[in-house]
Amino acid sequence: MATLADFRYEKATWCPGCGDFTVLASLQQACVKMGLEPEGVCCVSGIGCSGKISQHFGSYGFHSLHGRSLPTAQGIKMGNQELTVIAAGGDGDGYGIGMGHFIHACRRNVDITYVVMDNHIYGLTTGQSSPTSKKGFKTKTTPAGVAEEPVKPLELAMTAGASFVAQAFSGDLKQMTNILTAAIQHKGFSLVNIFSPCVTFNRVNTYEWFKEHIVNFDEMEYDRSDKYEAMRRVHEAEGVCTGIIYQEDRPAFHEVVLGATPHGTVKENLELSHEQMSALL
Ligand code: SF4
Ligand code: MG
Repeated sequence: MATLADFRYEKATWCPGCGDFTVLASLQQACVKMGLEPEGVCCVSGIGCSGKISQHFGSYGFHSLHGRSLPTAQGIKMGNQELTVIAAGGDGDGYGIGMGHFIHACRRNVDITYVVMDNHIYGLTTGQSSPTSKKGFKTKTTPAGVAEEPVKPLELAMTAGASFVAQAFSGDLKQMTNILTAAIQHKGFSLVNIFSPCVTFNRVNTYEWFKEHIVNFDEMEYDRSDKYEAMRRVHEAEGVCTGIIYQEDRPAFHEVVLGATPHGTVKENLELSHEQMSALL
């Protein structure tokens, strides 16, 4: 049985106090809690401070390109459905350059977990506004304040067809671990957007700010499979919500497509030799 130590690899180099430390610890705890083994897990990351997570997580890992963690992770899962695949990145990575992949991953419903460390800023490049920066937020690229409306990850994911949508906060390890555990256990595409403060470049959305503004949906009773109700509650929340917001039981992508090719199952095709594959084309 694997321990927390088995899921640790290399000392993390984030700034002291960065929210990403707790996200890493929480993912490790969730994997141990579920009885997973490091060789049964693959962590795929994008580019940004958060992208370092695949180097610090003691499992198979793939540090992919900027915004490309999702296509990489989906490919890995389709190649080996036995693996627990976790894609991870930041708000800039996932909702900026990676936005197209995000929307299609939601509707495709490949059985992976997508963890977004959302600090409302580009940390690695030293503090520019990101897709989730709030309107009016002043950064070095927006000295007069952000003019656009922010991306709303939860509403977007539900609209695009994600079958599990949740939000957590780095300052609440227990709730975050429960959410990550449920997300990994969920069959299908799970989004867990995590408020993970950048203590160096975002002096507005701090741990204190989130604590003051969080509305805990886990304390609310409603039908989690009712998308319209979940949407309405998120839209009307007076603050930023945490908890499992929406969950739907629907076949994962591999369950839909296996056996759907004219030449046998996808799994069988993946096992064909180069010569056998060439003969089919
Ligand atoms: Fe974390 Fe911000 Fe430091 Fe990056 S710059 S490691 S996001 S605190
Ligand atoms: Mg960011």
